[in-house]
Amino acid sequence: TEVTAARVRRINPSPSTAAAQRVRELKSQGLTILDLTVGEPDFDTPDHVKAAAIRAIEAGETKYTPVNGTPRLRAAIAGKLRERHGLECTDAQITVGGGAKQVIFLALMATLDEGDEVIVPAPYWVSYPDMVRANDGTPVIVDCPEADGFKLTPERLGEAITARTRWVVLNTPGNPTGSAYTAGELHELAQVLLDHPHVRVLTDEIYDEIWYHEEAAPSLAAVEPRLAGRVFLTNGVSKTYAMTGWRIGYGVGPTDLVTAINTLQSQTSSCPSSVSQAAAAAALTGPQDFVRETVSVYRGRRDAMTKLVNDVPRLGCAVPDGGFYLLVNCQDTIGQFTPSGSRIQNDEDFARYLLDSRQVAVIHGAAYGAPGYFRISFATSTDVLTEACARLATACAGLS
Ligand code: PLP
Repeated sequence: TEVTAARVRRINPSPSTAAAQRVRELKSQGLTILDLTVGEPDFDTPDHVKAAAIRAIEAGETKYTPVNGTPRLRAAIAGKLRERHGLECTDAQITVGGGAKQVIFLALMATLDEGDEVIVPAPYWVSYPDMVRANDGTPVIVDCPEADGFKLTPERLGEAITARTRWVVLNTPGNPTGSAYTAGELHELAQVLLDHPHVRVLTDEIYDEIWYHEEAAPSLAAVEPRLAGRVFLTNGVSKTYAMTGWRIGYGVGPTDLVTAINTLQSQTSSCPSSVSQAAAAAALTGPQDFVRETVSVYRGRRDAMTKLVNDVPRLGCAVPDGGFYLLVNCQDTIGQFTPSGSRIQNDEDFARYLLDSRQVAVIHGAAYGAPGYFRISFATSTDVLTEACARLATACAGLS
């Protein structure tokens, strides 16, 4: 008999965790690996945020908080949404959890019954399909080709909606693509959704501040107010403030959904960490110089990397709008032979060839529903990135 439940057998550990594990193993064998798999900022949490956490500990803020987060943090979240998007929300529409990941998981758990469908545009963040499966739902993967900027079109959205559709997931700016929907594109998708009142939209805006354009990244709930009652906006402090280990994320949306999530949270974690919440409130309300400075560093790397990658014969990538990833097209390496005579059959073979022959670790695209691509993270030093690109070029030159 099986020890585990069916829901566990339906899903896999995250491939980025698996890649990190493989990098650690190779490093422990004494190899120097250029690791481009990391999904977190290579900066330290800002000092004023750490200081706020220390103050919270000293002030005795070390007990359970309300299930949906401290009033201070919820007010900080409401403030951010008002300032950035002109969105107004009541306190009861906000919930805080242990990372955006947990909030998204609980939103699905709170709403899916067996057979309910969730539209997930591909390329996608690896966790969405498995989170849907873990909660008895059926992911409906909709391919969004590079020619469409890896974005869902109104036509494809319309075709994918059925009577069983509960959610559409929109990750913008996206991991792994770096693409973001313009306000015009969001407006067009919204027009389709207005015809289907049973469908809700989960927007994952975790990379909204790692953003390379003048005007703020648009948010669906603000673009189409008539849809606002059906949008669950998720975000967090992990990426913007280099706070991945503090585990604070949030969701804002319809009160019935937020109440259901709070009920689940009350029976799972009781509340997110009190100290981390104090830190997150300081991050959201304090000086934002850290964000400006780090985004300017990311922008420099993005520009350098897109140029270097596009200079490598057989590889190519688009310039991301946000985030710290490049999704590199390696379709022209498929069918080629490595110097040792093995044939590259797919992106996974190419990633393995890079790692084994040049010690460069990337994540193969099929893990994100993007076969023929691989993901590079540029949340690492310029030295590592430059050397890695030189090795990418050598690896590609070695193919025939
Ligand atoms: N959403 C996307 C698209 C991500 O890439 C990540 C982190 O990798 C998350 C959500 C999760 O962030 P958090 O640390 O808030 O759980």
